[in-house]
Amino acid sequence: MDPLLHTTRRTPAKDLVAGGLQSAGMTSSGPRPEARRGDDSKKAAALQALYEKYNTCTRCPLGNSRIKFVFGVGNPDARVLFIGEGPGYEEDRRGEPFVGKAGQLLDKMMAAIGLSRQTAYIANIVKCHPMVNPQAPELRGNDRPPTPEEVETCSPILQQQIAIIHPKIIVTLGSPSSRRRA
Ligand code: SF4
Repeated sequence: MDPLLHTTRRTPAKDLVAGGLQSAGMTSSGPRPEARRGDDSKKAAALQALYEKYNTCTRCPLGNSRIKFVFGVGNPDARVLFIGEGPGYEEDRRGEPFVGKAGQLLDKMMAAIGLSRQTAYIANIVKCHPMVNPQAPELRGNDRPPTPEEVETCSPILQQQIAIIHPKIIVTLGSPSSRRRA
């Protein structure tokens, strides 16, 4: 699955970001300079605890076919949180969201507004790779969007990530993440 590129066919990603920034009273030159909130280590510990609680999760069938649990990456105290729909082939192997082509595009988008993987946070709604044929995880082109049931089952993890990170802006990438307000 290529959630970012899927999104760009509907709405250019730069417009999504610009809209998100505008709605938060920010500009495309990046976040307003403000004092850091200074609770990075508490947030990092809370995210680590959340990761450890769920990294062997099998609450939905995706947990039985995934290669790696794809929790999220970035700054625990990020002001901007990017949310995609779910891991694809590359993400499943690396255990990191938005790698490969979609990741390169996201990196460029973030750079254009003064963000990076070190300053923003990136996560998906579902943490395991949805596959058309779960019996063939080695196949490329075997990605599919998560079902509403998978989204419903997995979204509490994302909700807890949002509660911990407490971002000022959430940028949704992909149709399930755009439809659902986690
Ligand atoms: S997708 Fe979410 S709910 Fe389903 S097994 Fe993976 S972590 Fe658990």
